[in-house]
Amino acid sequence: QKITRPPPTPSPLRFSKFFQANLRILVTGGAGFIGSHLVDKLMENEKHEVIVVDNFFTGSKDNLRKWIGHPRFELIRHDVTQPLLVEVDQIYHLACPASPIFYKYNPVKTIKTNVIGTLNMLGLAKRVGARILLTSTSEVYGDPLEHPQKEEYWGNVNPIGVRSCYDEGKRVAETLMFDYHRQHGIEIRIARIFNTYGPRMNIDDGRVVSNFIAQALRGEPLTVQAPGTQTRSFCFVSDMVDGLIRLMEGDNTGPINLGNPGEFTMMELAETVKELIDPNVPLKTVENTPDDPRQRKPDISKAKELLGWEPKITLREGLPLMEDDFRLRLGVPKKTNK
Ligand code: NAD
Ligand code: UDP
Ligand code: UDP
Repeated sequence: QKITRPPPTPSPLRFSKFFQANLRILVTGGAGFIGSHLVDKLMENEKHEVIVVDNFFTGSKDNLRKWIGHPRFELIRHDVTQPLLVEVDQIYHLACPASPIFYKYNPVKTIKTNVIGTLNMLGLAKRVGARILLTSTSEVYGDPLEHPQKEEYWGNVNPIGVRSCYDEGKRVAETLMFDYHRQHGIEIRIARIFNTYGPRMNIDDGRVVSNFIAQALRGEPLTVQAPGTQTRSFCFVSDMVDGLIRLMEGDNTGPINLGNPGEFTMMELAETVKELIDPNVPLKTVENTPDDPRQRKPDISKAKELLGWEPKITLREGLPLMEDDFRLRLGVPKKTNK
């Protein structure tokens, strides 16, 4: 997309930039699962200052424990549905619950977070001349009629369903991003994230990988929601963070799909977790939730071509890393074969 209007005049508040070599980066939702891994990666660069803004709805300070008190790090308890005044150079805008259990808990709040929260972050980006990246979602494709999903596909979304606060919310967030880009010359980046898993996911957040691993460790049946033939593609969180940073640093607005193209049915996932963690644990078919997409797999040609990115970690490599983290948090030691 070409910018048709002149870029905004930098705000006088950014004058300080001439005196400081550091890049100041805001991460909204930085206390969450993906956000905290992104913060870890950004903090590795000594030229970065990182500000996290989070209301701790699904995130926790614990995820950022190692950075609290660090001179290049700041943590602010703040809700993005309220205006925010900070001076930054880049904004990674992640704030939004991602698990269906949490985003359906208070759907009105979810849509406010997506719409008003994104509007506020765009207003902020406009005022200070920052580049802003939105973490959108594969859910914008709804229950897709094209497979795999390319960025050009407009989606098949129910506007009045129980998932709409999330998927329609993200669709409006994408619209706002492009309108601020076209109308005000804001530098935008949009990532459409497909299912991501890894350490620090909420243990009881209801998503399938965390459910199966927690169930296997507790010796409970793995709850496969009917019919079990629905598919998803699972990306390990370090690959996702790498993709997000490449997108922010590159020259393309997106939207760009980020995800792992390996496609599995939920039955296959359950069998894999069972084999890796506990071959004795049973599978149990349970009722599904409304509007559950039947298949989902990213076409990542654009990310490969434009960002030189593709996931490196396979499901069989990533699951044990998550298992270790869940064992620690659940207090379930590894069995030894003595
Ligand atoms: P998460 O729930 O762990 O993290 C979201 C963070 O945002 C939490 O720390 C939460 O407290 C915070 N938050 C929520 N509402 C807020 C508000 N109004 N103001 C301030 N903070 C708020 O989820 P995640 O998996 O890390 O997802 C991060 C982003 O990636 C989200 O935007 C999500 O939509 C997107 N995404 C994630 C996945 C995935 O598989 N994990 C897939 C697609 C898109
Ligand atoms: N905003 C913000 N921080 C800023 C600048 C703006 O939170 O540093 C919010 C502001 O409160 C408004 C939104 O971003 O609700 C959109 O701002 P914009 O300037 O684009 O629109 P306007 O204020 O004219 O409605
Ligand atoms: N699922 C399942 N068992 C569970 C939780 C989820 O079989 O305990 C299925 C669910 O029906 C869906 C898929 O796993 O088809 C992915 O669901 P999740 O909530 O993890 O993410 P989504 O991709 O739907 O946002």
